[in-house]
Amino acid sequence: MLIANNEKISLDKKEAGATIDFISHAHTDHMSALATSRGIISSHQTVELIKARTKPDSKFNINSNFSELGIKLLDSGHILGASQLFYYDKQKSQSVLYSGDFQMQSPFIGRPIEIKNADILIIDSTYHDPKIKFEEKEVTKKKIQEWVLEKIETGNIFFGSYSLGKAQDIIKILNEIGIIPIVNKQTCAINKVYINFGEDLKYASVYDADSGYDEIMSKNFVGIVELGRLSSLKIELTKAYKKKVYTAVASGLTKIMEFNSDATFELSNHADFEQSIEYINRVAPKKIFTYGMNKEAFARNLTKLGYNALPFESKELNKV
Ligand SMILES: [Zn+2]
Repeated sequence: MLIANNEKISLDKKEAGATIDFISHAHTDHMSALATSRGIISSHQTVELIKARTKPDSKFNINSNFSELGIKLLDSGHILGASQLFYYDKQKSQSVLYSGDFQMQSPFIGRPIEIKNADILIIDSTYHDPKIKFEEKEVTKKKIQEWVLEKIETGNIFFGSYSLGKAQDIIKILNEIGIIPIVNKQTCAINKVYINFGEDLKYASVYDADSGYDEIMSKNFVGIVELGRLSSLKIELTKAYKKKVYTAVASGLTKIMEFNSDATFELSNHADFEQSIEYINRVAPKKIFTYGMNKEAFARNLTKLGYNALPFESKELNKV
């Protein structure tokens, strides 16, 4: 937890005693504080995405006076609305930056990361391992487009993907080569938020009248489905359409996990280790706290390179 002007602010998770909860973006693993929160800090886009992802009658409180506490939100380049939290502590004359999920490469959708100097950096540890290195996103994009254009000649294609963030990237990549993909209900709801914030996404869905769904389904098509549905859909649809079904996963996780699909593409909206180093160097903090699942290993790897890094502990942060 971060203490800012006597408020106890949780960072992307539910914590006992928090008076405010910062939700950096609308991926569900960052939203656990939502249901019981006294007030959340999030960007406008994140608030709208949370509404699209939760039941219509679910209620949550928004704290919109956070700038009075000395808090500013900065784009993190991860997905639409994803933000870093910057806090300037007047009493200590000290600034703190929490990265949330972030990427250094330009995103296909939304604004790139905004970087600000800070004395203390709390950094996400998703890709803590120096061995993991992502290729340029433009290169991955070309590989996906070439693969799709080849395979669609002889069958239907399914991408297994999260409904928020990666699905919209895939839609954008496909739109560029003139393909309008079929999406599920959840992705449809999320797309509407992206479109309301000015993004141009062309997709079709059985849940969206006039989207051209029937016409698209009458030829070979591309669908975007939940990752867990990929293998069963391949079997079901090969039978139903009596033609080939090709499956693909486009995720940074393809670097560390095996997927049962015909193709994998290393499309990530996270910084890899090298990009995290670039971020750290540009923030130029005096002290680093690593945050999240791999925080110990990440802190060790940073310490080896000479950085002043520790795994995050609330009491350590608030001692500084
Ligand atoms: Zn995320």
